[in-house]
Amino acid sequence: MEVTLDQVLKCREERAERQRELIDKFSKPVVSFCMNIAGPVKTDNLIERAFRLGIRRLEGGLLSANARILFKDVLYRITGPEAVFCVDLPVRKLKEISTRIEDSDRLGRLFDIDIINTDYSKVERSELGLSERRCLICNNEAKICSSRRIHSVEELQSCTHQILENSVPEAEADLVASLAVKALLCEVYITPKPGLVDRENNGSHKDMDMLTFAGSAASLHPYFRKAYLCGNNFEKLRKLGLQAEESMFFETGGVNTHKGAVFTMGIVCASTGIAVNEGNYDSDCVLDICARLSKGIVERDLKSLDSSECTTAGQKLFAQYGISGIRGEMEKGLPSVRKYGLPLLEKLLKEGKTWDQAGSNALLAILANITDTNMVSRGGLEKARQASAQAGKLVSEGFVPLEKVRELDKAFCEQNLSPGGAADLLAVCCYLHFAKEAFGV
Ligand SMILES: [Zn+2]
Repeated sequence: MEVTLDQVLKCREERAERQRELIDKFSKPVVSFCMNIAGPVKTDNLIERAFRLGIRRLEGGLLSANARILFKDVLYRITGPEAVFCVDLPVRKLKEISTRIEDSDRLGRLFDIDIINTDYSKVERSELGLSERRCLICNNEAKICSSRRIHSVEELQSCTHQILENSVPEAEADLVASLAVKALLCEVYITPKPGLVDRENNGSHKDMDMLTFAGSAASLHPYFRKAYLCGNNFEKLRKLGLQAEESMFFETGGVNTHKGAVFTMGIVCASTGIAVNEGNYDSDCVLDICARLSKGIVERDLKSLDSSECTTAGQKLFAQYGISGIRGEMEKGLPSVRKYGLPLLEKLLKEGKTWDQAGSNALLAILANITDTNMVSRGGLEKARQASAQAGKLVSEGFVPLEKVRELDKAFCEQNLSPGGAADLLAVCCYLHFAKEAFGV
């Protein structure tokens, strides 16, 4: 969508007005953050994504200087996305931070961060003896290139687009990978969890503890990164998944900590990449894409095998009981996450419950609504169904206090049960919660 010069000027006037109001209200300097985009099209999917990454860098920079952010507002306008902050920090420090971010890399060159002093004046780099901004294209002083119109709009647009294409998906992939690892760690951290490794005990497991999970989660960072960038290529994702399993097994010395998570979280990360690329990120959209990506997987991996070809636990359980396990869940877009785990986790966190409380309740809600193949392999179908029913009864009565979860932990451990499949899905809930903050508008 093209904008006119009039619209750009009007927007600039409104922005200045808003800055003055904030300064009057807080008597502190204002930081204004926009994108530096040549030509009549000021916003699109990639520009907004770059802008979000920029806000993260800017806020990180402010926080690293111990700034108190007194006010923050973000606007997505046709004239380009913009953010404004009111910050309790001397203007010199603010200008140093903004200059550092603008000059840090190619993407930084597209950020336009203004510092407005309490007398409404814009702080210039030259006042503080900082080096002038460089031109995107020729690296000369940017002011000179723009005032003399050295480069055509087309040239600037193509250079801008190239920077966006090269930098934005890569930076997002880093972010997604760290959120996925954080989610795996968050799942292990949540305590108590029946039969699973947590901060209080190792559940029904003899060969792993929290540190095994920490190492395993960290080893998967490169995989989640690549999965995010994988797009619709499910075959490629499968190959990446096999490599990831190898790194995981090497890291743990042969213990299966996250094989399920490699499958589940890998598809979720790939789906995040597709959703962000399509320009409509939200949890439902990611889960719809999970279903789309994994379509036909039960048929391919399970139904088409005869019993002699079944090697994995999942394949054997399908042959024996017709349980499609995580593959079946995935093909349906993880209904246990979408309908039960995630809404409950977010509702309880919003009510001010701790991660332990919200997370353990979400785990029970998930367990109540799936047939967890880990439970079936360890205890048989009957015990697995009883355990699901028990979890379902608890959550149906409302919030489950931690003492009740501890009782269930004890019962599961006595029966050597461990709901590893539900745990992987809890990690997905944690991830979607974190990713909403990172990618949600
Ligand atoms: Zn130039």
